[in-house]
Amino acid sequence: MPDIQRIIDTIAEEIAGAPHRGRVADYIPALAKVDPMRFGIAVVAADGRVFTAGEADAAFSIQSISKVFTLTMALGKAGQALWKRVGREPSGSAFNSIVQLEQEHGIPRNPFINAGALVVSDVVLGGGDPRATIGEILRFVRYLADDDAIAIDMDVAGSEARTGFRNVALANYMKAFGNIERRVEDALNVYFNQCALAMSCRQLAMAGRFLAHDGMHPGTGRRVVSALRARRINALMLTCGHYDGSGEFAFRVGIPGKSGVGGGILAIVPGEASIAVWSPGLNERGNSQLGSLALERLSDATGWSVFTAR
Ligand code: GLU
Repeated sequence: MPDIQRIIDTIAEEIAGAPHRGRVADYIPALAKVDPMRFGIAVVAADGRVFTAGEADAAFSIQSISKVFTLTMALGKAGQALWKRVGREPSGSAFNSIVQLEQEHGIPRNPFINAGALVVSDVVLGGGDPRATIGEILRFVRYLADDDAIAIDMDVAGSEARTGFRNVALANYMKAFGNIERRVEDALNVYFNQCALAMSCRQLAMAGRFLAHDGMHPGTGRRVVSALRARRINALMLTCGHYDGSGEFAFRVGIPGKSGVGGGILAIVPGEASIAVWSPGLNERGNSQLGSLALERLSDATGWSVFTAR
């Protein structure tokens, strides 16, 4: 086992001095206030040991990383039928793009772009009430992380609900194709609240453990999803988890990862570790600039890559 603590301490030092930090997302007003100097990383190893550096216990807005958890729930509810309503191909377009939806009859390319995640939220909603569904998502994430302190940041949820006009447009557009089954405002309500989940790197890395353990919750020994489903979620994270920057992330880092515009990334090394990193400045594709660099350094130093022989 490589010396993870030494490696992430060195990474944290490099990140602290990095001159180019990217730009904090400002299209969601509540996120525009976050200090770009902040940084945290947590690594939960397969044996359960947790390594942290920087502000690993500071909560941040997980944003699109929540799409991994709602996808897991939607697959539990709809099974394979989910794939009739959302594709599994990288989009090559921006996270909030609407252009492909017309050509593809309201079926989003994958569950991690905003359009796909809205369909997933609609599936998680099922016939239920949005408040109960939001509670269900929160309980699921708390269970995965073994941490009841996880909460939704109402300031961020409200900020998105007031300004998320593109998401409103995407949901309405898909409704016109019949691919949002519930009330548009209910699907959006679930979506805005899941994106506003506030978690620390430690909590996020804990919540991701089941994907590094073939679908098992290592804390309870219970199965969250089958090994096949965990493998497939990891595959989608690798191919679609960084929007139109997914190829670059796979090239540089080589492990499944899901980013969010809050500057977080959840990354999974099957059989080895669940990792969460946070640096709020984003690159031009909306992915954490220094978070990606930190993961690149970590995979280089540990040899953790799904493309390397072990
Ligand atoms: N809540 C954000 C939005 O819908 C999520 C985007 C992201 O994290 O990539 O715009």
